[in-house]
Amino acid sequence: MKGLLVLSAVFLAVFGKEDFSGHQVLRISAADEAQVKKVRELEDLKHLQLDFWRGPSRPSMPIDIRVPFPSVQAVKVFLESNGIKYSIMIEDVQTLLDEEQEQMLAFRSRASSTDTFNYATYHTLEEINQFIDLLVAENPNLVSKIQIGSSYEGRPLNVLKFSTGGTNRPAIWLDTGIHAREWVTHASGVWFAKKIIEDYGQDETLTAILDSLDIFLEIVVNPDGYAYSHSSNRMWRKTRSINAGSSCVGVDANRNWDAGFGLSGSSSDPCSETYHGEYANSEVEVQAIVDFVNSHGNIKAFVSIHSYSQLLLYPYGYTTARAADQAELHELAKTAVDNLSSLYGTEYEYGSIITTIYEASGTTVDWTYNSGIKYSYTMELRDTGFYGFLLPAKQIVPTAQETWLALITIMDYTLKHPY
Ligand SMILES: [Zn+2]
Repeated sequence: MKGLLVLSAVFLAVFGKEDFSGHQVLRISAADEAQVKKVRELEDLKHLQLDFWRGPSRPSMPIDIRVPFPSVQAVKVFLESNGIKYSIMIEDVQTLLDEEQEQMLAFRSRASSTDTFNYATYHTLEEINQFIDLLVAENPNLVSKIQIGSSYEGRPLNVLKFSTGGTNRPAIWLDTGIHAREWVTHASGVWFAKKIIEDYGQDETLTAILDSLDIFLEIVVNPDGYAYSHSSNRMWRKTRSINAGSSCVGVDANRNWDAGFGLSGSSSDPCSETYHGEYANSEVEVQAIVDFVNSHGNIKAFVSIHSYSQLLLYPYGYTTARAADQAELHELAKTAVDNLSSLYGTEYEYGSIITTIYEASGTTVDWTYNSGIKYSYTMELRDTGFYGFLLPAKQIVPTAQETWLALITIMDYTLKHPY
């Protein structure tokens, strides 16, 4: 087994990108708790090299698993012999990746302004950084770039600050891309940045928000992971930090925060996709945001954006205890989701993390909420699993547009309900 891993590492070094030919994504519908438990057994069969895209959680929530080609038959036999229903969600992962690459290449061109920038395709880290610099150069009175730290591999952690003046105004924080492979979130972040610039002075709601509040937007929270998802492994989720004593790389940056850190709903196994890291804030990408939030001291709303599943969630993920502001958070989530759905009819569920998806410890918004940021939300953007993390580029702009309606709802509410 170890020989095989070394061999595949050599292949990767020689041929560049990890190949997903013949990998399938199976959608499993567990009928009851017993079947969910049975599916969990698959998590322990490490040799199958399964990649859980979603779940397992509750029987009503589908479980999506990327299954490498050599494991496909074994997993299907396992499910069938246990009477567990499944369907093939993605027939061949590599086919979708090839289409995505073709689309990116066809539309790749260095934009000379944010007006000619193509918002309807996925971009590399370098292109996103160019976009950020263009936007700042074009609108120096409205937006600036601040660097809140450096990633594990030394890349700048860039945050856009949209502000019309004042000192240490109450602020809203938005972030995308803490999980590397959730590309539609980075692409949406880029679109949000342009949208804020376009709407200021034009749209009444956004103008009122920016006249009183600052907006901070970190488009690429995990730049090392994002760069790696382009160069080597499209399915990369975690950071790229080295784990002492393990050949497995990276930490799940959304299990690394100091809120229920290390409890169930995260993994102590460095090879797991939900590895929480050695200690809270071990990841410099997380620590940088923690330091920023603490030193700012006046952030009133915090929205951390993921994909996929179409959910708007509030604390908590690590405990079934209700957040003190649950009723208000729930009501605001409902309004935000209603507004989001009004554009294209995209359906969202909403609720607390633990009751809506699954137990998750050490998450971003549990920490921000415990740190006093009342309006703390996390979102899971499109879709509900037809493409999962491989959402076709033609859905980027519609996704960003509808998501914006939820964000503007939360920001407007924050403006009107100071605390
Ligand atoms: Zn995520």
